[in-house]
Amino acid sequence: MLSAHHQGIGMTSLRTRERLIQRLREKGIENSKLLAAMLNTPRHIFVDEALASRAYEDTALPIGHGQTISQPYIVARMTEALLAAGPLDSVLEVGTGSGYQCAILAQLVRRVYSVERIELLHKQARTRMQELQLRNARLKYSDGGMGLPEYAPFDGIMVTAAPEEIPQPLLEQLAIGGRMILPTGSDRDQELLQIIRTPHGFEQTRLESVIFVPLKKGLN
Ligand code: SAH
Repeated sequence: MLSAHHQGIGMTSLRTRERLIQRLREKGIENSKLLAAMLNTPRHIFVDEALASRAYEDTALPIGHGQTISQPYIVARMTEALLAAGPLDSVLEVGTGSGYQCAILAQLVRRVYSVERIELLHKQARTRMQELQLRNARLKYSDGGMGLPEYAPFDGIMVTAAPEEIPQPLLEQLAIGGRMILPTGSDRDQELLQIIRTPHGFEQTRLESVIFVPLKKGLN
């Protein structure tokens, strides 16, 4: 039996979630499996209870430790870009944060590995994956700038914190034919990039301007 907190009442009801999905459609998100996953995922359990009533607004929200849960539109945009060439087998997410993006990915790909450098956030996200019974998500407490060599190569990599330059280990851990979606740049001037690894090298496309927290080095 789910508690009222999980079921969603009032401002976290299904109708409130449907309005968010409608907004994402209006902003150009088309992948129906992705929209269904976002409709089914209770974003309010990924934020502090005091902010639950704002969980289905299309905005980023604080999750403590100076970090944020990404804006739903950005989650949708990055996921849609990652999955544009079809279903993926093994995906690495760098920056678990609340675990919301990871929960969306877990419903759309065979296996997700997600790494976080703040231990408390990592532990909270792991508990949420268990509550939602998303057993194909493996969460690790480690420095995502190093990737996760023991599980490489990945046919998708999604980075949800911005490095100034693309981390070399992540390029190396991308499978041939695989794609990576990541923000790069300085605090005020970041660009969302799509990188596809071909047999001959890497193809880079700019998607849009974004604002992410910085990718930091080492564990907290
Ligand atoms: N995907 C998250 C958004 C999290 S914000 C969500 O859906 O909620 C970015 C996260 O990246 C923060 O939690 C931050 O601690 C983490 N981060 C920053 N640098 C990191 C690194 N080097 N390795 C792993 N995680 C990192």
